[in-house]
Amino acid sequence: MITPELAPLAKVGGLGDMVASLSKELGELGHDVRVVLPLYGHLKDKLYDWQPMPTPLAVRLGAWRELFCRVWQTTLAEGKVSIFLLEHDQLFNREGIYAGPHGDYNDNHLRFAFMNRAALDLCYACGWMPDVVHGHDWTAGFAPGYLSSTELHQPLGRAASVYTIHNLQHQGWFGRDALTVAGLPDAFFKPDHYEADGGVNLMKGAIYHATRITTVSPTYAREIQESTFGCGLNHVLKLRSADLTGVLNGIDTTEWNPATDPHIAACYDKNDLTGKAACKAALQRRFGLAEESSTPLYGVIARLYDQKGLDLLAAIMPSLMEEMSLQLVLLGAGDSGLENTFRSLAKAYPSRIGVHIGYDNALSHQIEAGSDFFIMPSRFEPCGLNQLYSMRYGTVPVVRATGGLADTVEPYIEGKGQGTGFIFKEPAAKDLFFALGRANAVYYDRPGDFQQLRLNGMMQDFSWGASARIYERVYREAVAERTRRLRAPALRETALPRVVADVG
Ligand code: ADP
Repeated sequence: MITPELAPLAKVGGLGDMVASLSKELGELGHDVRVVLPLYGHLKDKLYDWQPMPTPLAVRLGAWRELFCRVWQTTLAEGKVSIFLLEHDQLFNREGIYAGPHGDYNDNHLRFAFMNRAALDLCYACGWMPDVVHGHDWTAGFAPGYLSSTELHQPLGRAASVYTIHNLQHQGWFGRDALTVAGLPDAFFKPDHYEADGGVNLMKGAIYHATRITTVSPTYAREIQESTFGCGLNHVLKLRSADLTGVLNGIDTTEWNPATDPHIAACYDKNDLTGKAACKAALQRRFGLAEESSTPLYGVIARLYDQKGLDLLAAIMPSLMEEMSLQLVLLGAGDSGLENTFRSLAKAYPSRIGVHIGYDNALSHQIEAGSDFFIMPSRFEPCGLNQLYSMRYGTVPVVRATGGLADTVEPYIEGKGQGTGFIFKEPAAKDLFFALGRANAVYYDRPGDFQQLRLNGMMQDFSWGASARIYERVYREAVAERTRRLRAPALRETALPRVVADVG
């Protein structure tokens, strides 16, 4: 696995959770999984049970540039997964993963080319040749290109590449020199390789070069082939649709388990929900809200960016406060305008709205446990994890029908107690308002249905078992395809079906 994030070591969003839990699950299934990521500045003082590798790793980039790094190693899941951290202070000893206080780091192409190249060079250094190199999101976009160029006639050339799109919005756009810096061939600066609009687009190149592509839910896999969700790459994805599989993310059911969660005020399970009431009271106290057990409490945990649609929620908050009896707690950080809007709302309604701007893992567990409902009005949502955590914690999700939200939340059917949550279609403030109105009405007027919805969610199985099996299948298909291509000389120079013109 080549990844910029791995929970809990380095995590900005769901990508970190996914790589950690998929790796563990594959390890449990008996695969030899090795994960490579950079040693970021915040990890420097957390290396107590890590072993440094005895010799520095030489990483061969473009223009004969060779950089050296120290590699730290440990294992996860009782030794079933190996983790390697790449220590290169000049590139990674910084506060953020992708960005600092002034925005994206301007040498991100070098930083992540280094991560990809180092991961491959580490295989040679360890004398270990994987069957599959699995890269995640734009930062791992160089690896499929290496496998079909510099590595083609090397031992690693036999490895298939699987590339997972976690979020198509972030594609890794750079100038032409990104290829030179990485040491990828100049010939890849073409529209059917890495070139797009005169620059380099790492995700586009990876989509062309990977043996197989996955994304994190079946609905998102369909959506990204259409112009509305395709972020300019829909044509390229359509071209490769036969090789694209949507696999729903699972969750780490040990980390997210209300029966054993050490972060929450009282544990509970589907047979006895009394602990959940204690969690709600603790959450209300934590945010200084009125401690009313009978008022529905809505939770939000999200990166505060356009994708998450929380501007829609902000827009209707004053009318919600006027017309409905409910409370809201929000945990998130991101866009400073949205942060300030929610801070002001908390100031205006201190006993009914609680806001914490920042990143806080323990608090995210407390919100999942203490809320009655969870709101996700996303404009797009590749998979989404919080709706899955919510259902597991008996917290009923109110979501927009997109991507993984549409795949995992079943709509409530009035009077029948069926479904697991409330769904609305259009990304519009009024649609969210009506969905919240329906949720609130069920809470007050049909308490039996509300309890049933809660239990329906708690009975869902979102563990990794089934999804890891699908990844196994994708890996096997990728290996078979790679082998077939290597045996056919005409197909050797590219790992892909060639296209003559840029359709992207
Ligand atoms: P995305 O990857 O788009 O951010 P997901 O729902 O897939 O969205 O995953 C988000 C993950 O990050 C979840 O585990 C969520 O709990 C966590 N998270 C997001 N924001 C925060 C925050 N401010 N504090 C703690 N955890 C957060």
